[in-house]
Amino acid sequence: MECIFCKIANKEIGSDIVYEDELFVAFKDIKPVAPTHVLIIPKRHIEGVQALKEEDESLVGKMILKAKDIANKLNLKEGYRLVFNVGEHGGQTIFHIHLHIIGGRPMMWPPG
Ligand code: 5GP
Ligand code: ZN
Repeated sequence: MECIFCKIANKEIGSDIVYEDELFVAFKDIKPVAPTHVLIIPKRHIEGVQALKEEDESLVGKMILKAKDIANKLNLKEGYRLVFNVGEHGGQTIFHIHLHIIGGRPMMWPPG
């Protein structure tokens, strides 16, 4: 398996894990864009939002709820941003679905 996030989920590659359960791993982004920048991924390989199927509905729902729990655990009281980058124009560079949890400073809008 050549997917870097599968390798992180399997612990073949080290990362700074902040949360793990049977379905998900959350770890610090290697190139943080804010004081807090965590990625939450399902352990199961899914390429991205475009590859989601009807039967993934509960997995994705759980992923968002888990992101909220992690944001609270990381004390992002003032708010934070959850981001799915989708495909090339969406800025997706790793094709294993991940939800960015970004916070610790005010966010700009619109994004670049
Ligand atoms: P994307 O641009 O696909 O939405 O986000 C991919 C994110 O993965 C980027 O923010 C990038 O910094 C992060 N990333 C890429 N490779 C690694 C890695 O090996 N370890 C960690 N912790 N993060 C990574
Ligand atoms: Zn993968």
